Formats: sequence, structure tokens, C-alpha cells
Amino acid sequence: MVFYERVGVLHVHTTLSDGTAEYDELARLANDVGVDVLLITDHNVYAGEREGWYGNTLLLVGEELHEPAAKRAQNHLLALGAGEELNVLVSDPQRLIDAVRQRGGLAFLAHPVEHSGAFSQEPEINWVSWEVRGFHGLELWNYMSEFKSHLSELAPTLLYTLWPKLAIRGPYPELLHRWDGLLDRHKFVAIGGVDAHGTVYRLGPLRRAIFGYKHLFRSLTTHLLLDEDWSGDAAHDGALVYAALRQGRAFVVYERLGSGKGFCFTAQAGREIYTLGDEFVAKGSMRLHVRVPKRARLRLLLNGHCIAETRGLELVHEARAPGVYRVEAYRRYALRERMWIVSNPIIVRTIDGTPKPGT
Ligand SMILES: [Zn+2]
Ligand SMILES: [Zn+2]
Repeated sequence: MVFYERVGVLHVHTTLSDGTAEYDELARLANDVGVDVLLITDHNVYAGEREGWYGNTLLLVGEELHEPAAKRAQNHLLALGAGEELNVLVSDPQRLIDAVRQRGGLAFLAHPVEHSGAFSQEPEINWVSWEVRGFHGLELWNYMSEFKSHLSELAPTLLYTLWPKLAIRGPYPELLHRWDGLLDRHKFVAIGGVDAHGTVYRLGPLRRAIFGYKHLFRSLTTHLLLDEDWSGDAAHDGALVYAALRQGRAFVVYERLGSGKGFCFTAQAGREIYTLGDEFVAKGSMRLHVRVPKRARLRLLLNGHCIAETRGLELVHEARAPGVYRVEAYRRYALRERMWIVSNPIIVRTIDGTPKPGT
């Protein structure tokens, strides 16, 4: 089992919508900070011709689709790899998801749960159409969305504006819970997004570009496990990225707590070894193995419930039960434990292959 681990920064806006930098500049910044894959998703505009290799960074173009904010602030959808403009369909989330699928693309619900603090100057934009079918996953952790939720009072707003690292803690617990519920019926893939705009935040006389693109590119990443090394051909390499996202061969890292490179989660059943995004039928006992590049508190979850926990560099656990296994890793910063890594699951089906795992 050999994979090529690549660091992706997902969900970035340019001057084509409400961002403040152009494609070339963003590619250069991403290249500067060692981002392997930069995925641009502007609001309701698709500029696929900008895709390509820029130095060591592969720039891919998707789209963040939704009804214009003036009409309704809800249901933002990230369309990745669909290859064409789909903004005429924004009024109907199901038709939009169907259209993304028909074009071989991936549909992810963007910041599906939001909380907006009184000082954030931004509305909450939630996913409300949970009856939709056929989407591939969700943006489990959105950096900007989380940040604005902590701006509820003046003192923390000032503090977090100066030291944003104090604010960031992890995905919303209710969204983790909802994801666990969704995983009960299907493999929905989790990604992390920065939602970078490069905007300057104003608070009275304070004016601060705390969320410059470069800052965000070093903050929340989605690591991808690719089947092949880069070929140098942007279309081929883009397909490798989308294949990893489709499969769930990905984990989300809050890089400010340490690089997540080398994180590993496997299940060994007999002679077979499975990893993130794999599904297999239970065959007796299996050995679950988690390894992290820095000391952390590691939690192994089965169907959303913690079944093993330790502190250190690895966790090993023998298990037999079918179900959805996933991992969370936490590290401390400023007196508080914060989410560092959240993995996509390994799913162990029941012997008859029914989609609903046992508990
Ligand atoms: Zn959005
Ligand atoms: Zn966005």
C-alpha cells in the first residue's frame, strides 16, 4: 500500500468573486508556503482555463454555488471537477448536485453549520436542504466559519483578531455528530476549507488583515493520499486529486499545531491492510493502527463513540465489530486542547454487505 501524500488547500476565493487576489498571485503564494494543491472555488463563477501547474503547486478550479446572497444566505455547495459553469442551477440544490454528478464532478456541502458572533459582521450561512441526495461529502471544518463564531463579545474579538490561533478549536461538535449520523448510511467524505478571501477586518479604529491568504494557506489543510506520483500533466494530476477526494483518502489538519504529514490510520484484517476511505466486509478480528508525527491525544471512534484513547505517537486496538471507524487527534495550545487532525473513516460492513454498519 503505497500512497503519495499531498497537501491541499481548499476553498479559496479570487477577485473573480469576492476575494482580493488573482489566480497567478495566489498560485505564487501557495507555492511559497509549500501547498501542493490549491483548489479555487469562486462564488457562482467558473474559470477552468486557469487550471495548471504553477511551480510546484497544482491549481485546480471548482466553484462555490448558491443563490446570490441578496436573495437567500443558505445552501452553499462546492462543485469540484465538474468542468463547466453550473450557476444557472443555483435555485435548486438537488438539480445542482445531480448536474455535478452527471458531469463526473464532486459535490460537497460548504460550511453546512455556521454560528456567527455579534462582532463578526457576517451572516450565518447554513445548509438547510438536508433532504438532498447524492452529494459526496461535506466541509467538516471551515476555518473562517469557525473564527467568526468566536467573535461574540468585544474582549475575545479583540484578542482573537490579534492572535487568531487562540480562537481556533476544531469543527463544530454538532457537525461532527451530524457527519457520524450521515456515515451510518453512506461514506460521506469530510474535507477542510479555509474560505480565504484575503479581506481586511475592521473593528472601530482596528484594521487588520489577519486572514491574509498566506496565513490561511498555512492553517487548515486537507491531506490527500494519491495512488500515483505527479505526472506533470495538470489534467491527469487533477484527476488523481479528485479520485482521492471521491474515495475519502484524505484527512484534515490544523497545521498551526504542527505538520500532519505522515499521519496514518490502517485496519489489518488477516493479510489485508485497509486505510482511509476503504470499505470492507468484517472477517473476524482486525488490528487498528493510528500513527501521528507528533505527540497528541488520540481518539479512535466507532460509529461516533470513542472506543480507545491514548496519548503519544500511536494507538493500536484490536476490534471485531463492523461499523464506521475514524480518528481524531488533539494537541494543546494556550491552556486548551484543540483538534489537530480529523481523519476520514474506514468502514467495516456486515457480512451480508448491508450498507448500514452494525453498532
Ligand atoms: Zn460560502
Ligand atoms: Zn466561500
